[in-house]
This record gives sequence, C-alpha cells and structure tokens, in this order.
Amino acid sequence: MCGILGVSAVPDAARVAYLGIYALQHRGQESAGIVAIDQDGSARSHRGMGLVSETFNEATLNALPGDVAVGHTRYSTTGSTVLANAQPCYANTRCGPLALAHNGNLTNAKTLKDELVREGAIFSSSSDSEVIVHLIARSNAATPEGQIREALERVDGAYSVVIALGRTIYAAVDSRGFRPLAIGRLGSGAVVASETCALDLVGASVACELQPGEFVRIEDGVITQLPRLSPRPVSRCVFELVYFSRPDSRVFGESVDRVRRELGRSLAREHPAPGAEVVFSVPDSSNAMALGFSEVSGIKLEHGLIRNHYVGRTFINPTQALRVAKVKIKFNPVREVIEGRSVVVVDDSLVRGTTSKGLVQMIRAAGAREVHFRLASPPITGPCLYGIDTPTRAELIGANHTVDEIRDYLGVDSLGYLSLEGMLRAAGQAPGVPGHFCHACFSGDYPTPVSEELVPLRHSIPLAAAGA
Ligand code: AMP
Repeated sequence: MCGILGVSAVPDAARVAYLGIYALQHRGQESAGIVAIDQDGSARSHRGMGLVSETFNEATLNALPGDVAVGHTRYSTTGSTVLANAQPCYANTRCGPLALAHNGNLTNAKTLKDELVREGAIFSSSSDSEVIVHLIARSNAATPEGQIREALERVDGAYSVVIALGRTIYAAVDSRGFRPLAIGRLGSGAVVASETCALDLVGASVACELQPGEFVRIEDGVITQLPRLSPRPVSRCVFELVYFSRPDSRVFGESVDRVRRELGRSLAREHPAPGAEVVFSVPDSSNAMALGFSEVSGIKLEHGLIRNHYVGRTFINPTQALRVAKVKIKFNPVREVIEGRSVVVVDDSLVRGTTSKGLVQMIRAAGAREVHFRLASPPITGPCLYGIDTPTRAELIGANHTVDEIRDYLGVDSLGYLSLEGMLRAAGQAPGVPGHFCHACFSGDYPTPVSEELVPLRHSIPLAAAGA
C-alpha cells in the first residue's frame, strides 16, 4: 500500500510534500521519496529506504527547490523492498521530466511488462508502477494528457496516481475507484493527497475527493477536469474504512471515524457479550470500534492494552526472539484494568491470527477471568489483489478454519465476527442498493478478472507452527 501526494504552485513544494507524506506514513513505511520541479522545469529527486523522517533532513529538502512536487510513501505489494522500487518513479521523456506516484496494484502489469520488454523496453525496477511510465513515454497521443489517458486506459486493477509531467500535475483514480485521492487548496496553489489528513497537516482546505474515473490537470494551481476514464462498476475498497485509512480522514465521502464507530455499534448488536465487565480495543486501528461497542452494549470502555508507538523496525537477536514474542514489543496489558474481570477485546480484523493469539495469552496472563474477542469485519478469506498487503489463502486463518476452530486456536471464551452485511451497512451501503464496495478479501467476489497465477503461495505456514 502507498501514500501519494502532489503539490502545484506552492512555494517550497518539497517541504509541503514532506509534511504531507509524513501524515501518510501509515500507508507505507518501506521507502519515501519526493521529486520537486523548479520554475525552469528542472526536476530533482530524493528517495530513500525507511520512514519519511529517516529519509529527509534539512539538507536533502534544501536540494529540492521548486513550487511543484510529487511525494510517495511505499509499502510493497508487488516488487521487492529495494531502493530501485522506491517512488516517485522518475524519468526524462520527450515532454520533459516525468514523476509518478502510484497507490494500488495493477492486475495486468505482468502481461503489459512482458509485452513492453519484448518490444525493447528496459525496466529499472520490479514495481508494477513503472509499466505506467513506459506506456506514457511510448504513447503516440498528441498531448501529454492524451499520453497519460492512453496509458491509464491500458492498465487494469487499482490505481490512484499523481503524475508531474514538466511543471503540470495530473491526478487520476481508476474507474472502479479502489483507492482514495483528495484535492485541497493551499493559497493560490493546490495539493493532491491520498487522504485528507495530509491536507489538514499542510494547511490546505479540502476542495473535493476524486471520484472513480476522474482525471484532472493542475497547472499553476488551476484545476481543470479532463474527460473521465472509461466507466466501470464502482468498487471502493471497504478495508480502507475498516483498517487502512486514518480515522481523522474523510475517505469515499465518509468520516473514517464515523464508520469505525458504527462498525463497533453493529458488532455489539450482532455479537453482544452479556456479563462482560470491561471492553477495550487493540490500539490504535480499533479504538473507535471499541467506543461504538461500549456505547451500544453499555459495557465500560477502558484502556486495557498500551501500544508502544516507537516500534519501527525492531532488531532482536535469535536467542532473544525465542523468549520475546513479537507482540510483546508492540503491546503491554494494563493489569489493573484486566485482573479478575471478564473482558471484551475489539479488533478491526483477523489476518493470520498470530498477533491476536499472542495478545490473548498476554491478557490471560494479566489475570482476565474471561476473554471475549470481537472483530469488526468478517473473516478474511482471500488475498487482496488491489494493494492491501493481505497474505495468500494458505496463511489466512479465516480462509482455512471455522469460527469455532479459530476460537479454540486463539484460546478465547467466545469469538464474534461482524457479518458482511453489517460491515457494508456501517460503511454506508444502503440495504438492497447495488453495492459500491470491493469486499473481495472477505467474500471472494473479485471485481476484476483474476487468474490463479495472481494468487501465488508466497509461503505456507501450518496453523500450529504459526501460533508457536
Ligand atoms: P493477526 O492477529 O496476526 O491476524 O493480526 C491482526 C492485526 O493485524 C489486526 O490488529 C489488524 O489491525 C492488523 N492488520 C490488518 N490488516 C493488515 C495488513 N494488511 N497489514 C498489517 N496489519 C494488518
């Protein structure tokens, strides 16, 4: 998954981009990058592995002059974790320097890449996003926007993109609208960002969210709507609202916080926990859900788990690793809240089950009398092909085990998953109305053609070993 950002006609655009991608850090922690374009149309790039704060400093930002910029934070779902795959992708084309930041996953990238390579194209990365750069550069369309449109009409899957071509910024969202993208105004300039929380941080006022298929040009801060991309059935990623986006953002026209509270309320209605004395979240993604659960159930909300916010990439030596479960580095229980009580633990989703199993052991060790685990989304039964880093079916506990088996594996007294209908309703889908969400990871209902080769078994871990 990734965070993308574009700045047009704002002095010191690289610093604005820096702050913006700082706010999008949760969307990707592997690498960060900014390309800035100055008044003469010269572009300069700085990219690095790691967090935004590790990649940039005063000196690197000073070396990026200009009032136009593109920024990116990356978490890989295709391509390996190497600097060559850090974005923005940067190339010189006949229309001037091109910088591209992409969020999403292209489902036909391999076919297109094979075709391009056969025709002589040389790729400098293994990321799917570079395919778009090649398609733009090779297009015979008469205008830059024609070239970009032709490229975007050829790729399939999920893409929200911010592209600087010369000093002009282009932004687009694929016609299914998988990933969010918002535009803000900053003085006489404009800022485009994956989430509105980035616009808030740089002091931009939110102008609009790009709708599925929307394609805009921003030149010297002036936003022009271009003809839309060919329409397809809309399929917004519901997991953005459940887990991925920040609760202080508005995504797909919804307040993420509002949706998460409603998910928690619905969960309490579908799976109450009578007799429980305290409810708490697995911080931070499910805080609002625990609040909603408490509101409806009347069970007192507490902070039962404390999260260490400074975990980052943790190094523990192999002997320590045997004793220190990974989960302990991230979470610690508050004994005073838990001891002797029947507790409800609310989490947003269950993926492999390994974190949750460790958490339950920790909560029991802190003296819980009963542990009732509640999940504010249905069992995840398939991988995401559109940019969320969910593992393959073999690793997904919800794909291979019944709720009772998972309850026993986690070692909880009861386990309740929110239903698909309950989740979609909480996310804003009216009952009986054709859906506009992608819920493929929960339902197996993939909105694009999928082939088995798109579901590679990266590695397969037997259930017992995974929990050890
Ligand atoms: P586990 O118990 O190992 O299945 O981990 C569940 C936790 O992973 C939940 O607290 C989720 O918030 C979190 N989670 C959900 N999706 C992802 C993802 N794509 N990447 C990382 N963490 C995730």
